[in-house]
Amino acid sequence: MGSETNGKMAEGFEIPEINIKFTQLFINGHFVDALSGKTFETRDPRTGEVVARVAEGGKDDVNLAVKAAREAFDHGPWPRMSGYERGRIMMKFADLVDQHTEDVAILDTINAGKLFKIGKLVDIPSASHLLRYYAGAADKIHGETLKLSRELQGYTLKEPIGVVGHIIPWNYPTTMFFFKISPALAAGCTMVVKPAEQSPLSALYYAHLAKQAGIPDGVLNVVTGGPTAGAAVASHMDIDKVSFTGSTEVGRLVMEAAAKSNLKSVSLELGGKSPLLIFDDADVDMAVNLAQFAIFTNKGEICVAGSRVYVQEGIYDQFVKKAAEAAKNWSVGDPFNPNIHQGPQVDKAQFEKVLKYIEIGKKEGATVLTGGNACGDKGYYIEPTIFTDVKDDMKIVQEEIFGPVMSLMKFKTIEEAIEKANNTKYGLAAGIVTKDLNITNRVSRSIRAGVIWVNCYFGFDADCPFGGFKMSGFGKDMGLDALDKYLHSKSVVTPIYNSPWL
Ligand code: NAD
Repeated sequence: MGSETNGKMAEGFEIPEINIKFTQLFINGHFVDALSGKTFETRDPRTGEVVARVAEGGKDDVNLAVKAAREAFDHGPWPRMSGYERGRIMMKFADLVDQHTEDVAILDTINAGKLFKIGKLVDIPSASHLLRYYAGAADKIHGETLKLSRELQGYTLKEPIGVVGHIIPWNYPTTMFFFKISPALAAGCTMVVKPAEQSPLSALYYAHLAKQAGIPDGVLNVVTGGPTAGAAVASHMDIDKVSFTGSTEVGRLVMEAAAKSNLKSVSLELGGKSPLLIFDDADVDMAVNLAQFAIFTNKGEICVAGSRVYVQEGIYDQFVKKAAEAAKNWSVGDPFNPNIHQGPQVDKAQFEKVLKYIEIGKKEGATVLTGGNACGDKGYYIEPTIFTDVKDDMKIVQEEIFGPVMSLMKFKTIEEAIEKANNTKYGLAAGIVTKDLNITNRVSRSIRAGVIWVNCYFGFDADCPFGGFKMSGFGKDMGLDALDKYLHSKSVVTPIYNSPWL
């Protein structure tokens, strides 16, 4: 386990200097304290120690942020400038994100325990890519011409939906921030972002970069805080849409709050319990690597994690043996170490929740093939864990653990694989490993999930819409579908010629 020494070499790798610049709320283009003066602790999951105190926004702060966003929407330049101009400013924002990759990767590592190397090489470059994708779409927003029946003709206008509240989780602080703000900015919306209380730091840094890029004051506001601030966003009368990513339980509360306030539009990206189906014709070594990657990446704190692995009976025994061997090579340790596969769980609560599920799995009668314990002498590290002898109705199969815990099961036929894959309340993602095109086609059409990865996993792309079925939510992030969710369609109808009855 690596040392937390700041700015020094630690056991053969360097820990960069940690410099936290922004800890206040960002409202109307300025960093300000919470009106109450309250702050909350943010801890480094590598050690459990406090690294900063961050302003704790409450209802009054959300009111101020919404007032700024409302003013910017109703009277400000952002929704009124051309899409081309918005796109140019977003491109500049993306360039600034690229120039500060290392600074923000550090923040996501000390806030969420994310691998520093992956932050720098994948998460942050993908976020600036996404921003550029929507920057390029900003001047291509258009409606349709409608021929209509009778003596009428019409057209539709696509208009920004208004003030948006984005409520985001902690597992991908950068990715979630840009999933939400990029299409909303392109559409011409103004917004209030409520980051998760576990990982508020990078969102504040990005707000600072947005201002530098020229995004007008009031367009992008960030209110850090916990459920109180989130609930104030969900129930606000002056927010036109809430875009939420987080747990299914809180998603339900957000939808209730929207229904009880101003019936604002809601989109929900929620939890998952995604299946990975491995068929007899698969290359077993490749399938083992993919299964390991699908669940242990980001210490299993991924909504689409392949937590249920179903292997066809012909290769099951071989798969189990190889999976046990491969897990030994999946290293756990300091996320600043570039040779490590897995860092710490985000916080003590999540660490304890995962360990509790491991105990539940044992009590339910499943067998621990590998792992099953916490590791390290400090921080929130857990061994990559694989359960065998797992039954379909066990809690570890039905409930989202959000940790490095794989349930390994066997199936005989394609029909059985499809039935098992669909046998949870969730429907976020699924993976298939086979060389057989007929199996691929049949299974991908039969699984009720928002994305199906064939012979790959986490195949995300800016142009590929992503979002759930069933209790994994509704509404898409990414792709042009996400742009559409921040636009209203308005119909304008005119007579073709003067008609006596019009
Ligand atoms: P969470 O639901 O506890 O919190 C999410 C956000 O909601 C946080 O910002 C939190 O402060 C806020 N919040 C809490 N109570 C609220 C309330 N009453 N009203 C409004 N907002 C409130 O989720 P989490 O623990 O931060 O994240 C993990 C969950 O997120 C997992 O279930 C995971 O599957 C899900 N997730 C889904 C996706 C997806 O795209 N489908 C992506 C990432 C994470």
